Amino acid sequence: MAQSTLTIDLNALRTNWRNLNSKTACETAVVVKADSYGLGAGKVSQMLAQIGVRKFFVALAEEGVALRQALGDGPEICVFSGHMNGDAEKISGARLTPMINSLDQMLLHIETLPGHPFGVQLDTGMNRLGMEPAEWSALREIALGQNPELVMSHLACADEPDHPMNAQQLRVFKEMTHDVDAPRSLSATGGILLGPDYHFDLCRPGIGLYGGLPFVDAQPVASLDIPVIQVRTVEEGESVGYGNTWIAEQPTYVATIAAGYADGIIRAMGPKAYVYAGEQRCKILGRISMDLIAVDVTNVAEMPETVELLGRHQSVDTLADAAGTIGYEILTSLGARYDRHYIDG
Ligand SMILES: *Cc1c(COP(=O)(O)O)cnc(C)c1O
Repeated sequence: MAQSTLTIDLNALRTNWRNLNSKTACETAVVVKADSYGLGAGKVSQMLAQIGVRKFFVALAEEGVALRQALGDGPEICVFSGHMNGDAEKISGARLTPMINSLDQMLLHIETLPGHPFGVQLDTGMNRLGMEPAEWSALREIALGQNPELVMSHLACADEPDHPMNAQQLRVFKEMTHDVDAPRSLSATGGILLGPDYHFDLCRPGIGLYGGLPFVDAQPVASLDIPVIQVRTVEEGESVGYGNTWIAEQPTYVATIAAGYADGIIRAMGPKAYVYAGEQRCKILGRISMDLIAVDVTNVAEMPETVELLGRHQSVDTLADAAGTIGYEILTSLGARYDRHYIDG
C-alpha cells in the first residue's frame, strides 16, 4: 500500500447526528459546507438524507449545485452566503434557498428571482454575516411579507458555555424575531449543548457530526493511516530531516512515512505531534516535509505497515492542540491525495 487512507466512518457520523438530534425537541438540519468539513459532502449527505435529514446548509451556491446533484430533489439546500451577484442561475437551477444577508441581497433576490424561496440571516453581534438590527427594522415588513423559509443567526462564542456573549446574542435574537412566524434558528453544535433556550425551531450542527469539539461525546469519524516507506537506525549525533532540527541523543530507530504537509498535515504540528504504530505512541522527528514525515519507532516491537495519525488513539482535537489550531482546520485541511474509504452499515 503506497497511498495514505482516509477512512470516514458513516456509522459514527450517523450516531453523532442521532445523539445531537436527541438533545433537542426541534428539527436537526446539518451543515455540509467545505465538502462536509473535508469528509465528502456527497456521501455524507446521501447517508444523512436516508435517515431523515431534510435541510442541508452550504457556504456557497456552487457547493449547493454540487450537493443538489448528489441529493436529487426533496431535501432543502440553504446557502449561508445568501444571494450574491451572479448566483441567480445556480439558485434557481439547483433550487437553492439563499439566506439573505443584506438589503442589497434582498433587492437582488426579489428582482432576479421573484417568488423564489429564501431565508433571512440576522447579525446578533458577531459582525460577520447578516442584517443588523437597524437594517432589519427597515426591511422586515417586506421580507416577512414574502414568507421566508427560515430566520437565522449565528453564535460567536457557543463553544464557551459561560461566555456572556451567548446570553447577549440570545436576547438580541429574541428581540429581533419575537413576532416572526417563520421558523427560527440560532444554534450550531455549540448552541445545541447550551440547552433548550437556544434551540428554537431548527438547529444546524456541523463539527459535532464529524467528531469534533465542542461535542465531547462525539464518536470519531475520520481516521488517517499512513504507510511506512522505510526504516533505519540513526546513530547518536546524526540528524533527521530538513534543517537538522532533530539530532539523535542515542541510537534511534526511525520510520519514514508517506504523507506530509501537501496532504494537509499542518507543518507547524511537527514539534508536538505523534503517530501511533499499533498501540505505541511515536514522536514525530524533525520537520514535516511536503510528502514525508519521520517518526521514532524505537519502542515499536513489531513494525506495522501503516501508522495512525487520526483515529482510535488520536482525535482531531488532540492533533489540533499539537498544531495550535482547532479540529475544524485539521479536518478541512486534509488533502486530496488520500485513498478515501467509507464505512457504512
Ligand atoms: C459553520 C456554521 C455552522 C456549523 O457550525 P459548527 O460549529 O460546525 O456546528 C452553523 N451555522 C453557520 C452560520 C455556520 O457558518
